[in-house]
Amino acid sequence: MLDQCHQGQWKALAVLNVLGYLEAEAEVLVEVLVMVTAEVEVEEARTPWSTEAMTEEAREKLLGYGVAPPLPLPMAGEDPPCPRCGSREVVLKNPFGATLCKTLYQCAACGEVFEAFKTV
Ligand SMILES: [Zn+2]
Repeated sequence: MLDQCHQGQWKALAVLNVLGYLEAEAEVLVEVLVMVTAEVEVEEARTPWSTEAMTEEAREKLLGYGVAPPLPLPMAGEDPPCPRCGSREVVLKNPFGATLCKTLYQCAACGEVFEAFKTV
């Protein structure tokens, strides 16, 4: 049977063992966190999509549906020609069409209301 003094020493040793164990576990946990952090580092290798990547065939299909295709990147912000008559006399009616990627215009020459694909 342990006396009070020995019981205190035994408890102190037990606490030190637990602390040592926890310290070792913490070191392992830190190593795992460093490895996980290294695994989730992402490097973007490709450039974002742009309307410059749209094929001529896709542009012609948009025109066929009455949607003005996106202008070349250097002309971004300019008004597109009317897809019906080709006039440059167009009026911006709404910066957003049926979708966020399109703008709503009306042609001043032929009256056609049309959407234009935004240049991005
Ligand atoms: Zn027109």
